[in-house]
Amino acid sequence: MHIDGACHCGQISFTAEIDPSRVMVCHCTDCQVLSGAPFRAVVAAPIGQFHLRGQPKSYVKVAQSGNRRAQVFCPECGTPLYATAPENPTSVIIRLGCVTQRAQLKPAIQIWQHSALPWLPELPRIGGSPEQQGFLPAPT
Ligand SMILES: [Zn+2]
Ligand SMILES: [Zn+2]
Repeated sequence: MHIDGACHCGQISFTAEIDPSRVMVCHCTDCQVLSGAPFRAVVAAPIGQFHLRGQPKSYVKVAQSGNRRAQVFCPECGTPLYATAPENPTSVIIRLGCVTQRAQLKPAIQIWQHSALPWLPELPRIGGSPEQQGFLPAPT
């Protein structure tokens, strides 16, 4: 499947070929902190089928698995874009949040569930609204 994506400010964009049956949710604590979200959804693309436009920045972290990973993001708006090996990468792990087709990319597996936030299963039962109405005001 052909996908495309961009960071929030538009300075960095990309296209890729992915297997839509290989979308994954990661509940590891690194993904929670680095994504700013309760969990992260990702999909891999071979490096030869990933085309980047723009000049991103990267931050190398040591994952819980012990692997060194370059976390690549937009230097202007900070949007997380993908992760890859710091040297001789063969693939990129694209962050679903910046993929245009993300609504069609349902995860097939979840990993690091032992650090999944305990309230996630309750989410469907938590009240809400289609837009911002009902947003809780800050305490005064
Ligand atoms: Zn940006
Ligand atoms: Zn993770």
